[in-house]
Amino acid sequence: MTLGPMQRTRFAIVGGGIAGAATAWALAESGESDVVLLEAEEQLGAHSTALNAAILRVWCPSEAATSLAQQSARFLASPPEDFAPVPLLAPCGTVLVPADPTPSSLERWLAARPAGAVEHLDEADLRALLPAFTGRAQGGVLLREEGRIDVAALLDGLVRGARRAGVRLRTGARVTALEVGDGRVDGVVLEDGERLRAARVVLAAGAWAGALARAAGSRVLLRPTRRHLLVTGPDRNVDPAGPVLWSDADGFYARPESGGWLLCACDQSAVDPDKWEADESVRERIAEKTAHLLAPAADAGAAHFWAGLRTFAADEEFLIGADPDVAGLEWVAALGGHGISSAVGVGRLAADLLLGREHDPALARAVAPARGSAAALSP
Ligand SMILES: Cc1cc2nc3c(=O)[nH]c(=O)nc-3n(C[C@H](O)[C@H](O)[C@H](O)COP(=O)(O)OP(=O)(O)OC[C@H]3O[C@@H](n4cnc5c(N)ncnc54)[C@H](O)[C@@H]3O)c2cc1C
Repeated sequence: MTLGPMQRTRFAIVGGGIAGAATAWALAESGESDVVLLEAEEQLGAHSTALNAAILRVWCPSEAATSLAQQSARFLASPPEDFAPVPLLAPCGTVLVPADPTPSSLERWLAARPAGAVEHLDEADLRALLPAFTGRAQGGVLLREEGRIDVAALLDGLVRGARRAGVRLRTGARVTALEVGDGRVDGVVLEDGERLRAARVVLAAGAWAGALARAAGSRVLLRPTRRHLLVTGPDRNVDPAGPVLWSDADGFYARPESGGWLLCACDQSAVDPDKWEADESVRERIAEKTAHLLAPAADAGAAHFWAGLRTFAADEEFLIGADPDVAGLEWVAALGGHGISSAVGVGRLAADLLLGREHDPALARAVAPARGSAAALSP
């Protein structure tokens, strides 16, 4: 179906990364296909969605993110038969070295999680699971449900499902402004001047969502930050099915990738999403941490080094739901460092809210852009 310029679509989603794709798919799954997904680039998922570490974390910093990631984890472990031709999840587990490794802290950590999902590791267990680990650790925990996500297969499944149900996908369609009429957003303007009318506009534009919203009168703030990853050359000591190493104690993580290691020094710096590039000095920081914590990987050399954007609300909670200031404007953004892990849960919650369907009210309040937290809004 093609829409004439004055026809009005029900939902226009701005941004075809994992957030926009999951929202379009979940709307379609709920029977709503009067949706257009607008992506600025010629390909979907070319920004953060293509530049991340692809680790499924189910224990996130906030309860809301944890709940959404756990919903997603269940989906990733057993998706519908026709969703993807390959497994979406390699359930390799995460070995976590907590920031506070004292026995009392570990016990508190374990007590807060359901039995079976998390296992205590003493130092010998930890080193047996991760023989390449050369850092200091009195012990740690094994998070069995975590693992590696096939991000390309997940995105492809979401997009195919949405398209099959009738969602219209437009790439090379950069939104330059939200149209505000009669006190509410009622459409978008594209780079070539084309205007599209929509009853609701959903901002899923990652690091770029904030500027579009503010120009339309929203006070919601976004903070795009940059983080780097490095993949080493092949190392024959790497077990491709081995667990993720996540050291909160050292601000470092690593997992097997392409016969070598994917490494991260957990760097984070605020950037302008239109003016940034990879910072070579972070390569050195990764090398230093690797030499200390994963000594065998230090000899494998660097095959790839890149940076991507992790975008946060001021209080680092996701933004899902209606804008507090601008009627007709909806958010699915600020997914920070957990957007891949939580995508399916995020898309489904967003769709339930957009369609006025039943949802968990406490969860919706926690991620609502209108949450009272002054931290989420500028003065
Ligand atoms: C180094 C790094 C490691 C990470 N590791 C993990 C991990 O292991 N696990 C995990 O769960 N998460 C991880 N993340 C986070 C994850 O990548 C993000 O949370 C997620 O990709 C955000 O998806 P998004 O759709 O919101 O943003 P994006 O993928 O950036 O998508 C936004 C899209 O909007 C489009 N767009 C922007 N402006 C416009 C416009 N004006 N008009 C039309 N389209 C527009 C962009 O082109 C883009 O395609 C990591 C991130 C980084 C950078």
